[in-house]
Amino acid sequence: MKLYNTLTRQADDIVPLHPDKVTVYTCGPTVYDYPHIGNWFTYIREDILIRVLKVAGLHPDWVMNITDVGHLVSDADEGEDKLEKGARREGKTAWEVAAHYTDYFLEGLDRLSIIRPDHVTKATEHIEEQIALIKTLEDKGFTYVINDGVYYDTSKFPAYAVFARLDLDEQQAGARVEYNTEKRQPTDFALWKFSPDDRQRDMEWDSPWGKGFPGWHIECSAMSMKYLGPTIDIHAGGIDHVPVHHTNEIAQSEAATGQRFAQYWMHSNHIMIEGDKISKSLGNGYTLEDIEAHDIELQAFRLHVLESHYRSQSKFSWDSLQAAQNRLRNWRATAVLRWQPKDMSSVSTQLTDEFARHLLNDLNTPLALAKIDEDFAKLQASLTDNTAADGLTGYLQLIKDSLGIDLLGSTPDITDDQKRLISERDTARADRDWRHSDEIREALAEQGIAVRDTAYGTIWARQ
Ligand code: AMP
Ligand code: ZN
Repeated sequence: MKLYNTLTRQADDIVPLHPDKVTVYTCGPTVYDYPHIGNWFTYIREDILIRVLKVAGLHPDWVMNITDVGHLVSDADEGEDKLEKGARREGKTAWEVAAHYTDYFLEGLDRLSIIRPDHVTKATEHIEEQIALIKTLEDKGFTYVINDGVYYDTSKFPAYAVFARLDLDEQQAGARVEYNTEKRQPTDFALWKFSPDDRQRDMEWDSPWGKGFPGWHIECSAMSMKYLGPTIDIHAGGIDHVPVHHTNEIAQSEAATGQRFAQYWMHSNHIMIEGDKISKSLGNGYTLEDIEAHDIELQAFRLHVLESHYRSQSKFSWDSLQAAQNRLRNWRATAVLRWQPKDMSSVSTQLTDEFARHLLNDLNTPLALAKIDEDFAKLQASLTDNTAADGLTGYLQLIKDSLGIDLLGSTPDITDDQKRLISERDTARADRDWRHSDEIREALAEQGIAVRDTAYGTIWARQ
């Protein structure tokens, strides 16, 4: 299986460090608000990574963190903690806000058919591990303390700019005036922030440096190492994480362990909505509830996400979402062929191999979907081939396993009564009793069953 690796800037073969598993860490949500559909794009794409690893016969051991403390409004350690800000907005404590949005997020994974990670780890439940890691960095001379916290000295890590190909001189020259003037370099980042003197935070802990809370980046290193060891196979996240969050994760992890932090880095590109960035102020931060309010299934949203490659900057529009809903309906009309008493073309292993090959090649979901269109069109056109429907069921199972699009559960057989109606209609047609045949067609239509007459007999599908 090949995956484009941000570290090497090329598609690399996945060769896990351990023979029996592939370790994966994906940066999870900051639980201070409802995720918008752009966020869900990223989580669905990471779910595809996990599913395709399984199809490839690798066994993922997957950690996703929940950021429930320490992510400041600006990724550059400035401004307020998003959780404390959310708490003020809602008149609750930061703990209550975190609990509410964590539950909502985990339910969202189920609603979107995203596999639950093997470990969902909260930053607030790993404070000790984070403090220990900061202590290691301090002992190795990578930290310094200033007015508002303990910072990582990026000048001590010579490879700091390598991963994101940063131009540090330019960053120094362009440093915003408001950045903490006690910081030695603009790229230095907080490992531990002190609680303010004038106010008690909802979330704060004692540490060797004083009361406070961890910086955002340290949680991912600490939890990744705890559950998956010093070096992991695959680390994933949104593309916006490359220059700051992931760069900092690498710097602090590799400084602490002296080992490579991750072998492969996968980044999901951003989603644009009707030509704009997604943002609250533009009123386009749509949620899953907005999609359902448009009478569109979340399976159709999932299909829409898969219609673009994870590395392309994709566009969301209500029209394209509706088109995905229609595509799903068309696919179901083929999925129900497995119930019909017609011989049909089997889907040869060769076909499913080709489908899987697209996914194994850097998760090329658009080509995999196009392959389904092509194969299903062939099936519809060749209903008489003298082979069994087993091949179709196997293909549908592979589609479910690898894409999370369930064309099996969503397409049950029709009832015996409906089957009787269809054969009654066949008899009426044979007797050229068109009136009765039309009556039955209408009766079936009222039950959501459409019938069409082919050279090979009556074929039904749900409307
Ligand atoms: P956050 O909760 O803000 O940390 O974001 C959660 C995830 O969503 C991160 O991996 C971001 O990279 C990703 N993300 C944020 N905005 C977008 C967007 N417009 N399109 C795709 N992913 C996004
Ligand atoms: Zn992270």
